[in-house]
Amino acid sequence: MLHNTHLQQLQGSYLFTEIVNRTQAYKAAHPQAKILRLGVGDVTRPLPLPITDAMHRAVEELAHLDTFRGYGPEEGYAWLKQAIIEHDYRPRGVELEQEEVFISDGAGSDLGNLSELFDTPNRVAILDPSYPAYVDSSLMAGREIEFLPCLAANGFVPELPKQKADIIYLCFPNNPTGVVLTRTQLQQWVDYARANKSIIIFDAAYEAFIEDPDIPHSIYEIEGAKEVAIEVRSYSKSAGFTAVRCGWTVVPKASGLNAMWMRRQCTKYNGTSYIAQRAAAATYTPEGKAGTQANLMHYKHTAQLLMNGLQAMGYEVFGGKNAPYIWCRVPQGYTSWSFFDHLLNDCQVVCTPGAGFGPSGEGYVRFSAFSNRKDCEEALIRMKGL
Ligand code: PLP
Repeated sequence: MLHNTHLQQLQGSYLFTEIVNRTQAYKAAHPQAKILRLGVGDVTRPLPLPITDAMHRAVEELAHLDTFRGYGPEEGYAWLKQAIIEHDYRPRGVELEQEEVFISDGAGSDLGNLSELFDTPNRVAILDPSYPAYVDSSLMAGREIEFLPCLAANGFVPELPKQKADIIYLCFPNNPTGVVLTRTQLQQWVDYARANKSIIIFDAAYEAFIEDPDIPHSIYEIEGAKEVAIEVRSYSKSAGFTAVRCGWTVVPKASGLNAMWMRRQCTKYNGTSYIAQRAAAATYTPEGKAGTQANLMHYKHTAQLLMNGLQAMGYEVFGGKNAPYIWCRVPQGYTSWSFFDHLLNDCQVVCTPGAGFGPSGEGYVRFSAFSNRKDCEEALIRMKGL
């Protein structure tokens, strides 16, 4: 038996595991400390009642012979796909067919699994810094990666690849920088992909945080995108589903990949839980919408609070407006990990070191707005006292 040696290319420990380990070690040495977590991007607000009610009803259905269900369609129930088409795309002028929408158990799995659609020699372009899944899944597949630096000098907006890229991972609103792309900027990427016969895997996990009317929510708002883009979405951050697990992936027929993805899913994925899909459908009811909007408003306010507080202390900060993340330059003399340790040890605040997102993240840390107002206010007071 030969191992998949590509896995040895991966960094020893996953970024968020390392953060948890350091935080736990601190907690073990200082059991009384109240640690304020502004690091990992996990939601903190409970699910709105209309959504948990929908899950309770779904569980009840499974308890009775006449309403019980077994395996559902691998690609998801038609009622959820239709709700997505009508609520998430049609109001933005995007028409999709039900067969183009695949319900998933969240963005994370599909972002990794989509890699199976492509042959090994394809070259990949990935933003640096970026959410670790794109790099890790490309390395696991044994592909060569060109990193596209996103730095203060280019406004954290990547330049087009220097060498021809076959697969391009884009994430906007961006994790970790919080930067968004305008329509014109996104059109350049679609044009590049069309000219080079590349495919864009567009991660729009933070779409719900967009406030500026000029910022596209879906890549399909851009002319020609259906030929060259797969879009990955999630209810995790928009509706607080990090534990429930539900999202969707759009593989347009015009991309030439739709039938292949369907075939792959039928073999390797037996569908998203019925309960999770009923919960997702409940986010589109007026009550469900009101509940998720209230949670989103909370995170948006927290982002604003952190931005203002950090700025007032003289930190140079980016993002935070159409995204739940604040990208903050570390003070002179620190690396991103040494500043992480400084905040943990000296004010018990957890952030995420930028270097964990790629080499261009060095010199920055990320603060997450997925917290409560009181903790953010306290974190800012403690940081002021440093
Ligand atoms: N994409 C980005 C950019 C993320 O930040 C995350 C999670 O933090 C995901 C995808 C994965 O989300 P999900 O919970 O839907 O798997």
